[in-house]
Amino acid sequence: MDKEPGSSFPQTAGNHGTAQLASSWARIRGRMRDEVGEVEYRTWLRQMTLAGVEGDEAIVLLPTRFLRDWVRGHYGDRLRGLWQAENPAIRRVDIRVAAGGSAGLSDPGMPQPEPGLAESLTPRPPVRPMAPAVVSDKLDRAGDWIAPLEPRFTFDTFVVGKPNEFAHACARRVAEKPNSAGFNPLFLYGGVGLGKTHLMHAIAWALRERENASVAYMSAEKFMYRFIAALRSQSTMEFKESLRSVDVLMIDDLQFLIGKDNTQEEFFHTFNALVDSGKQIVVSSDKSPSDLNGIEDRLRTRLGWGMVADLHATTYELRLSIVEAKAHASGVTVPPKVLELLAHKITSNVRELEGALNRLIAHANLFGRTVTLESVQEVLADMLRAHDKRISIEEIQKKVAEHYNIRLTDMASPRRARAVARPRQVAMYLAKQLTQRSLPEIGRRFGNRDHTTVMHAVSRIAELMAADVSFAEDVALLRKMLET
Ligand code: ADP
Ligand code: MG
Repeated sequence: MDKEPGSSFPQTAGNHGTAQLASSWARIRGRMRDEVGEVEYRTWLRQMTLAGVEGDEAIVLLPTRFLRDWVRGHYGDRLRGLWQAENPAIRRVDIRVAAGGSAGLSDPGMPQPEPGLAESLTPRPPVRPMAPAVVSDKLDRAGDWIAPLEPRFTFDTFVVGKPNEFAHACARRVAEKPNSAGFNPLFLYGGVGLGKTHLMHAIAWALRERENASVAYMSAEKFMYRFIAALRSQSTMEFKESLRSVDVLMIDDLQFLIGKDNTQEEFFHTFNALVDSGKQIVVSSDKSPSDLNGIEDRLRTRLGWGMVADLHATTYELRLSIVEAKAHASGVTVPPKVLELLAHKITSNVRELEGALNRLIAHANLFGRTVTLESVQEVLADMLRAHDKRISIEEIQKKVAEHYNIRLTDMASPRRARAVARPRQVAMYLAKQLTQRSLPEIGRRFGNRDHTTVMHAVSRIAELMAADVSFAEDVALLRKMLET
């Protein structure tokens, strides 16, 4: 290289020189290492290199798409904070895949020489397909307080299923035709991690791309802080104007405004001004407008004027489709059985499900191992345990007795009639399958029977299941009812 390292970058962030950049970067890395600890640092962060600083943005490179996403998701904010502390002119950190970096398929290998800063300053990173920076001038100026959109959150990556199809259709509709009758405001609500933010960003991306629309997206919390700051600096006029100049305003997690009367009032006025001038509003919340206690009545009423769409809890089918899509996108082969296990076990929300899958993929990427059912147990032991429902023998006995319409006491009675003996065997079989209890212990709970009786029951039921499909289905159904 005949050029001085880093000279290809316009260093507008306070003319941060190369030497100064290098020492800032070394300090930032050191801080990160101290904060997260050696193991975590080595796993995720040691391969970071600094490409340089462009405008108000520091550009950090990672060798794979997977590492990039991980670092962006887990350490992005912290990196930005540390950069800002080094140089307040740096407002953003762009984390990219280094030129020649793989798409997350390869094993980055274990120990690798840490690339020195000098060499890492020279290659210009490939510019990732950025969303067109087509926000209007006004927004550009206000841009520092409008939250950046997550590149992953687009319609393309949103998996549609029964629980979210209505919300998705409404979001699509707003993205295609903002401010159409009956869809303003669009109010999305649902539990944590079900895709509200994802859908909002997807609408914003679509609108920015197609219509060149100026879209302001922010959390309700950010809205409040911004409003308070404006009050303090006596710049509420500017605040109002910059907000009222957008084409689309999106406020995420509106429930944050509960009890915050002044901010609600301000939001209410902004809301009215925008709707009156034909602009689109999109709001999300964890509750429906009518359940938003602590939000002023008139605001609640207005929120419900347009379209209210809820995201329901996921179903097994949706969870499976989501992990399939995400595994596919990661490029790592994950056996179907593993995906089924995840979809079955991690039912709380999509964010956790994603986290589990990411961990598996990270493991596979870092250690070059394939994902198997065994490795899942190992890598996700803590998560799976937390989601393992403890099933008691009493529960099993009760469910089975109900199912076959016999008395609960017959589970422990000495009666040998087929009508009670068979269900009892099913219950013993399920107790063996679904609990950690030993055979003698199970025997004791079924009227002090011997462990060989339990053993016999288990093998008898297995045989019957193999021979009779409808019986097998029956037992599988019982099992499913107990597990979920
Ligand atoms: P919320 O805002 O409702 O709490 P998010 O939109 O942040 O939830 O979603 C949490 C995570 O789950 C995100 O990474 C998002 O991409 C993912 N996710 C949620 N629903 C879906 C879906 N239907 N398809 C793909 N990813 C989803
Ligand atoms: Mg959210």
